[in-house]
Amino acid sequence: MNTLSHTQGPSHPPLLSLTLGEALDATAARWPDREALVVRHEGVRHTWRSLAEQVDLHARGLMALGIERGERVGIWAPNGAPWCILQLATARIGAILVTINPAYRVNELEFVLRQSGCCWLVCAEAFKSSDYHAMLQQLLPERAEGAPARERLPHLRGVISLSGAPPTGFLPWSALAERAGQVGLHELRERQRSLTCDQAVNIQYTSGTTGAPKGATLSHRNILNNGYMVGCSLGLSEQDRLVVPVPLYHCFGMVMGNLACLIHGSTLIYPNDAFDPEATLRAVVEERATVLYGVPTMFIAMLDHPLCAQSDLSTLRTGIMAGATCPIEVMRRVIEQMHMAQVQIAYGMTETSPVSLQTGPHDDLELRVSTVGRTQPHLETKLVDASGAVVPRGEIGELCTRGYSVMIGYWDAPDATRQAIDPAGWMRTGDLAIMDEQGYVKIVGRNKDMIIRGGENIYPRELEEFLHTHPAVAEAQVVGIPCDRFGEQIVAWLRLHPGCDLTTDEVQAWCKARIAHFKVPRHIHFVDRFPMTVTGKVQKFRIRELSIARFAPGQGK
Ligand code: AMP
Repeated sequence: MNTLSHTQGPSHPPLLSLTLGEALDATAARWPDREALVVRHEGVRHTWRSLAEQVDLHARGLMALGIERGERVGIWAPNGAPWCILQLATARIGAILVTINPAYRVNELEFVLRQSGCCWLVCAEAFKSSDYHAMLQQLLPERAEGAPARERLPHLRGVISLSGAPPTGFLPWSALAERAGQVGLHELRERQRSLTCDQAVNIQYTSGTTGAPKGATLSHRNILNNGYMVGCSLGLSEQDRLVVPVPLYHCFGMVMGNLACLIHGSTLIYPNDAFDPEATLRAVVEERATVLYGVPTMFIAMLDHPLCAQSDLSTLRTGIMAGATCPIEVMRRVIEQMHMAQVQIAYGMTETSPVSLQTGPHDDLELRVSTVGRTQPHLETKLVDASGAVVPRGEIGELCTRGYSVMIGYWDAPDATRQAIDPAGWMRTGDLAIMDEQGYVKIVGRNKDMIIRGGENIYPRELEEFLHTHPAVAEAQVVGIPCDRFGEQIVAWLRLHPGCDLTTDEVQAWCKARIAHFKVPRHIHFVDRFPMTVTGKVQKFRIRELSIARFAPGQGK
């Protein structure tokens, strides 16, 4: 018996050595007339044949713009058909899709575009409180007149808007289809043939185990295989219909959703442009869905919605809850009240494509609701102590993952990559876990400073640095506290410069104009000093305890 916390997943099914374009060709050839994509809020329906045609058209349009292999193309838009088409079209031509959180504000967008060196950006017109056109015009004032923005974003050659009437200087989305005629289908095929599955296809920004955003760079092989293995665990087939309410800019949507369906021939269903409990429940009922995804807070919102009890959800058989700790009670309610008898928990992180552990359909209920399962095929998991030694089973250690799913590295950040992935290929996750005798893993905490609010990760250090840029703020400390609705909420403690005065509303309004809404602190506490250790270090745990007592007594129990 292996008494150390180190396991290896099965070696079946075999890994695939395909690019995303080749996978699309195979599926379109095998199931041309089966439904591939349903986008309910846009009224769009594609079969695999028509989806592949759309992908080809837009891929040729991208080539007509002069986009070369390895160049970066950004997408800054909520869920919709163009998102999926662009993902596959950029992959077909060997470009690298940079997925940008639709909640980002100008500063965050500028950082990502510059760090990744995007040559084109595809954006929506507006979404919720975000006016993308206005933000881009603020960032690229000269672009409005049609001239390139050499200074701030030297790589950016142009912006494509999904709006029907883009501002001067931006191309409409329809321009890609219109320009497709300039590039022959054979040229596109030739481009696809020149690619290998080990090349980068996607960059996703995440702060990893430290505060500064870094671009996790993933290959065709990384993400196609992860989508494939996740789908195998769910038993996906061309008969399945999978509802994806999670955002596509994250691996949960674009890998576990889009690519799992692509490789298994299942139907992808987007209920709305962003999560909405009612639209998701209606999509399940009206599309007779068999599979449903979500982060825990989405399932809580669906279970609490009056429509849930009245809906016939009996077509559902399975799904995945992932992204944050999945409360056992919520898992039980999903099984009983949403008919998802085979629901599974998946665990992973962007840097590992994302899934590295998953519960299986045959695991008994107790393990299925209380652990994140066992190591996925072709991967290894180990738990280590502070010295890097593997801990015995039953003891807490930092979870590390090795195998095909580990990213190529952080984009243009070799030092950060070396810190995250050791020379033997292990990715350190910053999560603390316990492994039992059978290899089932429980996530018990984090040794990285991170808050997960409603499925979105917030890095206190990044937010503290941002709050320091306010002229009245002398010092900022950010912590997460439990919240029944969002899992966690953000609290900021601020010490102001002498003579300065600020209110909670003023701080929140200042943040809202500059950073994504989910990073805006829910509570602000103004203080003259912070709790300190005798050696003068701020006591974060004490700030957290006091914040819970003040703002969240009784939450998260
Ligand atoms: P991301 O890179 O956005 O996918 O976030 C990855 C982080 O989310 C992990 O390092 C964990 O801290 C957390 N996470 C993901 N899945 C789970 C899960 N099933 N249970 C607990 N935490 C999770």
